[in-house]
Amino acid sequence: MDKNQKIGIVGLGLIGGSIFKALCALRCDVTAVSKTRSTIEKAHYYASKVSKDLNTVKDCDIIFVCTPINKTKKVLSQLNKIIPETTIVTDASSIKGFVVKKQYNFKFIPSHPMAGTENRGFEASYESLFDGAKWVFTSFEKTNENDLKKLTDIVVALGATPVFTTAKEHDKAVALISHMPMLFAQALFKTASKNKLAMKLASSGFRDMTRLAMSNPEMAQDMIDINKDNIIDALEAVRQTCDELIEENYRTQIEPIIEQRREMYDNKGKNTL
Ligand code: NAP
Repeated sequence: MDKNQKIGIVGLGLIGGSIFKALCALRCDVTAVSKTRSTIEKAHYYASKVSKDLNTVKDCDIIFVCTPINKTKKVLSQLNKIIPETTIVTDASSIKGFVVKKQYNFKFIPSHPMAGTENRGFEASYESLFDGAKWVFTSFEKTNENDLKKLTDIVVALGATPVFTTAKEHDKAVALISHMPMLFAQALFKTASKNKLAMKLASSGFRDMTRLAMSNPEMAQDMIDINKDNIIDALEAVRQTCDELIEENYRTQIEPIIEQRREMYDNKGKNTL
């Protein structure tokens, strides 16, 4: 990674804060913009160029937009008016199809870091969040190879592995592994909470299965609003698989599931695929 380049971050929450802390630790030239005074004060402990003023990222070479999903398009439009055409911009939104619908003057390379927790805000962010994670890039077909490399070099320096796909395929895949499981965990919790004995008896299995029920509600609402069709398709696919498991030979189906699930994650919990 070229440490002489100026990197901007907009939105110092879980994702933006983690990028910020990791880049500060790598002694990069970072300028950050966030909304709330207390977040800005906390971020000053790591770097001096942190403020509420979006104009401060004007001369950055690369900008990461890490605001909530519902604010991302507005911030991208604001940046469109103030930054030069040479600036490389990425966003971190968990859904990609909606951000690529508009054209921008800058070099836009949408992305999505596949790392996170159920917590939100700068205090929940940490330097090693992206260590061992995948980082998806979409809609890069018209992107100059050098520009893509500048961006992926940063992601690699944060400990992540770049993965390339289309916005459409991305949105389908994350509905299956993230958005639908979140909704399912919430529905499971809501259903079980109607049974007092079940709630009293619930132990670690229920705890693990429902961790995603505590997801950031603003982000969850955006996922449901924007990626609803893919979430419904994913729920239907899982329902069909449940039917197959119950009605066809359960034992022959379950053995490869157990084996694949066991091999998929290493002893640090990282996906090996
Ligand atoms: P978050 O913790 O709620 O952080 C977003 C931060 O953006 C807020 O804390 C707020 O900072 C700031 N902000 C809001 N409006 C702003 C504006 N107009 N200008 C500048 N800053 C603004 O959310 P997050 O989890 O980091 O998510 C950020 C993005 O990453 C979303 O697009 C999400 O889909 C994506 N993502 C999330 C996860 C995850 O697991 N959470 C994983 C991958 C990708 P203040 O504290 O200053 O108000």
